[in-house]
Amino acid sequence: MSFAATVLTLYPEMFPGPLGASLAGRALERGLWSLAVHDIRAVATDRHRTVDDTPSGGGLGMVLKADVLASAIDAAAPADDPRPRLLMSPRGVPLDQARVRALAAGPGALVVCGRFEGVDQRVIDGRGLEEVSIGDYVLSGGELAAMVLLDAVVRLLPGVMGKEASGEDESFSHGLLEYPHYTRPAVWEGRAIPDVLVSGDHGRIARWRSEQAEALTRHRRPDLWRKVRGED
Ligand code: SAH
Repeated sequence: MSFAATVLTLYPEMFPGPLGASLAGRALERGLWSLAVHDIRAVATDRHRTVDDTPSGGGLGMVLKADVLASAIDAAAPADDPRPRLLMSPRGVPLDQARVRALAAGPGALVVCGRFEGVDQRVIDGRGLEEVSIGDYVLSGGELAAMVLLDAVVRLLPGVMGKEASGEDESFSHGLLEYPHYTRPAVWEGRAIPDVLVSGDHGRIARWRSEQAEALTRHRRPDLWRKVRGED
């Protein structure tokens, strides 16, 4: 059984977008995952197909209506659908590689893309939507965030990456940032590849890489470093 993604959006034409190219696109063609895209507006019943309304209590912007979004969710996924229901949201739990790995090990995900100022809180509560953020900045809609999440998940699915192992060694897999990479030519603009990497001594290479990964993490991401050291 392959990973089944269902996306709810007001902009279905944005999909598959980048998910249709390269690694994710080839995996989609090969049936290693599936993507169903539902237009939230298609379930709006009034003459103007209204999906938003002004915020209760006042303020700027518009809010995605609970009744419309709930109908769209119910049409896209039956109540007993075992997949997690995610709402892309800057208020959400920050997405990290551990969550990505957990999602990749599961049956798929229902991913709701917000727009406007956000969605009516009652549909978040009533349909058990779990808010997920891709970082501390605000996008204009959840579509790019959904693509980021799905791209991160899809590359971990069995058979998607050339070597099964290539997901093992990279940034975050062991809580560290990845060591620097080099490839030929041996000297480029006067800069040589570090001697150790051309030494053929695999033990030394492994040690050098883990030292580099540790130094980078300590410098750039003291937050990750504290976690790795068990200080958090
Ligand atoms: N008023 C909201 C921002 C709305 S942005 C607030 O201040 O929290 C519109 C939509 O873009 C959101 O509903 C969400 O689906 C999406 N979005 C914006 N930033 C995001 C982020 N960092 N991560 C995930 N989704 C995001």
